[in-house]
Parts: sequence; structure tokens; C-alpha cells
Amino acid sequence: MITPQTNLHGYTTTKSKPKEMEKKQQKPHCLILPYPLQGHINPMIQFSKRLAHKGITITFAVPQGILTSSAAGNIAVETISDGYDSAANRAGVGPQERLLSFKTAGTESTSRLIEKLREGGRPVDCVVCDAFMPWGLAVAKSKGLFGAAFFTQTSSVNVIYYNVFKGLLKVPVLEKEIVLPGLPPLAVSDLPPFVVEPEKHPGLLELLVGQFEGVEDSHFVFVNSVYELEEEANDWMKKSISVKTIGPTIPSLYLDKRLQDDTNYGLSMFKPDDTCMKSLQQRSPKSVIYVSFGSMAKLDKHQMEELATALKLTGKHFLWVVRSSEVSKLPENFTDEASGKGLIVSWCSQLEVLAHEAVGCFVTHCGWNSTLEALSLGVPMVGVPWWSDQATNAKFVMDVWKVGVKACPNEEGVVGHEELVSCVKHVMEGERAGEMRENARKWKELGKVDLYTRNNFY
Ligand code: UDP
Repeated sequence: MITPQTNLHGYTTTKSKPKEMEKKQQKPHCLILPYPLQGHINPMIQFSKRLAHKGITITFAVPQGILTSSAAGNIAVETISDGYDSAANRAGVGPQERLLSFKTAGTESTSRLIEKLREGGRPVDCVVCDAFMPWGLAVAKSKGLFGAAFFTQTSSVNVIYYNVFKGLLKVPVLEKEIVLPGLPPLAVSDLPPFVVEPEKHPGLLELLVGQFEGVEDSHFVFVNSVYELEEEANDWMKKSISVKTIGPTIPSLYLDKRLQDDTNYGLSMFKPDDTCMKSLQQRSPKSVIYVSFGSMAKLDKHQMEELATALKLTGKHFLWVVRSSEVSKLPENFTDEASGKGLIVSWCSQLEVLAHEAVGCFVTHCGWNSTLEALSLGVPMVGVPWWSDQATNAKFVMDVWKVGVKACPNEEGVVGHEELVSCVKHVMEGERAGEMRENARKWKELGKVDLYTRNNFY
């Protein structure tokens, strides 16, 4: 019979305790396996730092050649294989092929790493793996270890994919309005494109829905969210899976300041440009538009042009992150013409930027980390979603958390400059700007409270 047990610092699990743990008295050792993307590494490294702060030994493992910096305090960083082992070998490989290769090479190399750590006197007790990598749970099980799944998307997005996983939501979704438990009614445009037009994104629906493989069997399920942000979705998920919201996973300096020197994520795939902070110093409070589409989005050239035109038309100062791979899509001479009003950088320390008083609005793709960072730092948003969970996050930004607006694309799927200008004005100086800022302030406080009261192992 399986009985509830309290493990890993106060967590209750109804799953049977792996044999290895029964003899062990010392603090546990967790092996953390993030999916090797910036938006997955950031929340999982922050979670790791919080555990390490409590004396838990952490080993963080990513494929070779992924990071440009690896300063993560007392956390050991190890490499596993995704079958390529260099950025050059990975380039041009499609998502389906890469996922398959990662599953095979990752399973084998993670097993080897666990053996190596055991032989070196640092036996692993628990594998916390990104839900994108359900094979990590299988490795944990085969080694008799605790297994934990870590979701880097909201519980609301989990509800969507879990319903697909259970066959309760048929894909492709054809209805105009979708009503799912725990969620407000959603329009097709609020859904991840992978459930609306799966054929356009080969392999991705399987990846996203596959996140639930083995989860019902795992010992712990963590979600990088805050309970109150999506109470109904969390409550509904809890009926089937014992999810624990552990967010917001952002550096301690921006929340409770309990962790010394925890001022940034620490593990980066990009090098930040330091000039932007200096430029923000010169601006008045809430006057600058910060624009960033995260680490992956590849916007249409036309969309970049519309954005550039809109930024010029607002007449406001702006800071725009355009990754070097995207720079060629900027209108000719834009960088020179914009100088004085706007600064374009290839990457920045986003948290520092969002925390700066000069920033008045964040034009974002609504990647979940960016959204949660803006919520945690009280910055109103203009959502211009690109793909994945971003449209759903943008819907919540506008209609549930009421801290911004979701921009409307035209029939070609491009958000035009007039719409962009109107959204920015609405958020920065419209009738409801004050209300949005007040809501943003409220969520900012909640992020801190949640960290103290609910995540009691912090
Ligand atoms: N980020 C950053 N500097 C930038 C742009 C983004 O540090 O110039 C960070 C941002 O703070 C966030 C992550 O990169 O933590 C992006 O994750 P998100 O989920 O928002 O989007 P993704 O990159 O996964 O699409």
C-alpha cells in the first residue's frame, strides 16, 4: 500500500519511497535537468539556487557547448549529451530529430552521470527534470531515485495540454470558442498554435503534450507559477496531479533578498550589452519602452519594420533587444536614425532593465519567464505573441491579471504600426494606465508573499 510521506523538506508525496533513500540520513542531492533553452534554464537554475540555499546538494546538467557563462554559485554544472555536443553540429537540425537524439543520448549520458556521481561519493537522490524531457523521469525510476517533473509554463497552459493528453480536447481545435475547466473561455487566437495548426509545427504538439508522460507516477510535480495568478487552473490540475507552484523563480535580489549575491540567473546562452543601463539612467521615470522577444522568436521582416515604425511614431525613448541573428531584418539605417531616441542591443540583463524606474512599458512576446518577470517587477505589458504558450499568456495579461493589452494582428498575422502605437499609448498614458500599473504593483507584492508563505521550503 502507498501511504503519504513527507520528504525533501516538507513535501508530501503519496508515491512509495525509493529504496536508496531509506538508509540515507544526510541532506539530499538533486540532479537538475533543464531543457537546453534560455527560457528553461533560467527558472530551473533559480529553483536550484533556492534548494542549495537550504543545504541540498545540486548538480545541474546541460549538453555541451550550450552556455556562454556558468557562474551559478555553489551549484556544480556538469554536461550530458544531446547527441551533438557542439553548437555547430546542432545548427540546422530540425526539432523532431533533435528531440529524438536528445532522448537517446540524454538517457544514456544521464545514467552514466548518475553512476559517476555515485562512484565519486556524491550519490544522487532525486532527478528534477524539465517536463520537456520525460525520459529523465524514466532514468530516475530505473535507478530507484525520486523523480520530479518541472513545468516551465503556466498551470493554465498545462490545463490545455493535459486535456489533449487525456483525449478530452480534440486536435486540431476547430471551435471558435474553447471552454476548458479552470480557464476563462478562450478564442482560437488565445491558444498555442500547436493545438490549432499542428501540421505547421511538426513534432511540437507531441513534445508539449508528451510533458505529461510519467508525471502521474512521479514523486513531485513543480510548476513555475504563483498559485493566485491562476487559482482555478491550479485547483483543477490538483484533482489529477499533485502540482506545486514554486514561482516566481527569479533572482532573490528582486524578491525577498534572502539569498546573498543572487543578482542574476547566472547561466547564460547570450552575452549582455552593458550600455543599456547607462542609457536608462538618463531617462525620467516610466518614460522608456522596453522591447524584447526573448531568446528564440524569429519575427517576419515585415513585423520588424512595423515595430520600428511604431517605435519612431510614439516619439518616446526605447530600448529594443534585437538578437544578432535578427539584426538584418531591421529597416536600413534604422539604428542610426533612432540614435538619440532609441538604443538597440543584442541582449541585456532583462531583470535589471525591468527593475529600472525609467521603464514604463514592456513590449513582449509574452514568453512565460518574461511575463512572470514583468509581473514580479510591476511593469505593464503590450503582448505581441509569437508562438507556443505566448498567446495564452498574453490573454491572461490583458483579461485576467489586467496588467496590459494583447495586440491584435491583421489578416496577414502581422501587428501593424498603428495598432502597436495605440497599444503602447493605452498602457503608458491611456485612461486605464493607472489601473494597470496598480494591478502590476499588486502582483509584484504577491510574488514576494507567495515565496514566503507557500513555498515553505524556501
Ligand atoms: N532575457 C534576457 N535578456 C534579453 C532577453 C531575454 O536576460 O535581452 C531573458 C529573460 O529575462 C527571460 C528569458 O531570457 O528570463 C527568456 O525567456 P522567455 O520565457 O521570456 O522567452 P523565450 O526566450 O523562452 O522565448
